Order: sequence, then C-alpha cells, then structure tokens
Amino acid sequence: MITEDWIKQCATTDHDRYSRHADRERQNDDLTLAEIEQALVSGRILEQYPDTGRPCRRSSRIPTSELRAMSQHCAFCGHKHLTAKTTRYIHQQADELLIVDDVPCLACDYCGEQYFDAAVLKAIEAEHSAIVRHCKTPQAVKPVAVESFNALSG
Ligand SMILES: [Zn+2]
Repeated sequence: MITEDWIKQCATTDHDRYSRHADRERQNDDLTLAEIEQALVSGRILEQYPDTGRPCRRSSRIPTSELRAMSQHCAFCGHKHLTAKTTRYIHQQADELLIVDDVPCLACDYCGEQYFDAAVLKAIEAEHSAIVRHCKTPQAVKPVAVESFNALSG
C-alpha cells in the first residue's frame, strides 16, 4: 500500500518518475517540478485505490523503487515490459519551447507511454530556465510555425 511517508521519501530523494502524460498535465497547469514536489511532501492521501498490481493511475507519478519492485509495469496499460530508450522531449515554459533530443526514458513496449526520472526532468527545467533568462545559449534556435485550426486549409 502507498503511504504518505513513502511518497514523501520518494519525492525528496528523486526516486520517482513522471509519465509523459503526467508531465504534460503538469506543464499545461504551469506547475514547476518544485511545486509538485512541495505538494507531495506536504499533502495527504485522500483516496486509496484497490491493489490492481499497478501504481496509482490518477497521479501517474511512480516512484522508481515501486517500478523496480513491480518489474517495471506500465501505469497505463499494466504491461510488464518497459524498455530504456532515448526520445525527443519538448518542454514548455509559458510561451517558450525547448526541444531536447536524446532524453533517456523508459517506454512501454505495448502502449508506448514513456516515463522520465524526476532528476532528468529537473535538469531540463533548469536548462530551459537558464536559456529563458539568457544565462545560457542553446545549441540551435529554430522557428516554430503556429496555426489556428480554423485557418487550416483543406
Ligand atoms: Zn503501457
């Protein structure tokens, strides 16, 4: 069973992972990783789910130790095989985008959901913040096309 102490320990020692889905939700809500961590450290468990053999689906934030103990099950489909890969990751901070290639993750062999170590996401968030503050110059800058669906031809 997941306990508050266990969540706090995972959150304060970077022994956790974010699914790509959870990370997108976090960025859509304009929350930093530090704000999520603070909520986990000071929050309470409001509801326990039955033990389905999968981590809590609602949070999609899975402590690394839990994943290892569960033979790295996918939180979304329950598939047992996650494979270490690298992928392209797009970080959004307000209207600023940062594209990072070759980001390490675990990917579900069945549904494709990806999981990122909190430490990896923290490094990306810090790098993007430095670029936005003009403390660091990115390797390349590319124009990004923006379109409204109503303006699409077709
Ligand atoms: Zn899956």
